[in-house]
Amino acid sequence: MGRITVALVAHDAKKAEMVSFMEGHREQLAEWNLVATQGTGELIQQHLDLPVNLLRSGPHGGDQQVGSLVAHGMVHGVIFLRDPLTAQPHEPDITALLRLCDVYNIPLATNRSTAEAVIHLLSLCTEEAPQPVLV
Ligand code: PGA
Repeated sequence: MGRITVALVAHDAKKAEMVSFMEGHREQLAEWNLVATQGTGELIQQHLDLPVNLLRSGPHGGDQQVGSLVAHGMVHGVIFLRDPLTAQPHEPDITALLRLCDVYNIPLATNRSTAEAVIHLLSLCTEEAPQPVLV
């Protein structure tokens, strides 16, 4: 199996939480390919000094780009720390991304607790173990 690829998205109110979550898993994340929407990815690069493949910002198509990667079977897990208390102008894009994760059975975390679970699940994926991508 190739390297694990994880997609990361955090709404503005959740960006600090994303950074602190990532700091707690830095060693593991350094072994994986990271792809992120622009604002989230730039913060991760800044604070964790990890390479991140940057997509468009979420409201400018980044969530759709993550969805496209999911549809192409190029992402093993999505961590999307959503702000459940603020209306987002790109709500349809968000819904579409969540839907595609379900279509392709991709582990998806929308809060920190499930993000912990997704990281743990992906850390169990080795050459011997099947990867959770069913495309
Ligand atoms: P951002 O996008 O990482 O570019 O800020 C996040 C979002 O709002 O989807």
